[in-house]
Amino acid sequence: MPLPKSINTIASRLANADLTQREEDVRRAILKAFGTSGTSLTVGDIITLVQGLNRHDLSRICCKLAERDLIVWDETGQCVQSAYPFSGLPTAHKVHLKDGPAVFALCAVDALGMPVMLGQAAHIVSRCAHCDAPIEVAVSDEGLGQYRPRDSVVWFPLAEDVCCPVAQSRCPDINFFCSTEDRNAWWQARDRPEGLPMTMVEAFEAGREIFGSLLTRSASNPG
Ligand SMILES: [Zn+2]
Repeated sequence: MPLPKSINTIASRLANADLTQREEDVRRAILKAFGTSGTSLTVGDIITLVQGLNRHDLSRICCKLAERDLIVWDETGQCVQSAYPFSGLPTAHKVHLKDGPAVFALCAVDALGMPVMLGQAAHIVSRCAHCDAPIEVAVSDEGLGQYRPRDSVVWFPLAEDVCCPVAQSRCPDINFFCSTEDRNAWWQARDRPEGLPMTMVEAFEAGREIFGSLLTRSASNPG
């Protein structure tokens, strides 16, 4: 089941961001560096990654990327705290990359899409958002691998909250559950907005669709 076209994903925000080649270079450098270091990045980290970039240009570009909700720029304006799918702050979803570090993902679908984006296998360790039971998911070069428990599912909220970055509004509600029963119990116990129940296969396909081309697409604006 693909996500409805109306959903504001990182892929749709990027498609509408109208980035120049230079801005696109910075965006990709941030994602690649996050996948290598597993931690948030300072201005000093990023400036060494893109040739011919000064601090003023970099700050302006990072502000634009944050305005388009492609990264989360911290309050001091000195640090990329998160860059979808990566979180510089701890979350429930830790992705152990085969050729890299263990890095936190902003949500369950981001965790599933991250290995596809990076083109490497990974082992995801998360937990049921209702009962806290551990949930583990393997992603191989071929796609979704084994996962435990076998009844694990995902929930994806459909409501849009435009008050703040998606990382803060929607991501905390995109979670794994150990079973459909626990997902339903979680949903009923709280005043939750409408959402899309997903099997693990559907959630992986959503992750692949959203993140699969984030590092391979071409810039929309050659300027
Ligand atoms: Zn559970």
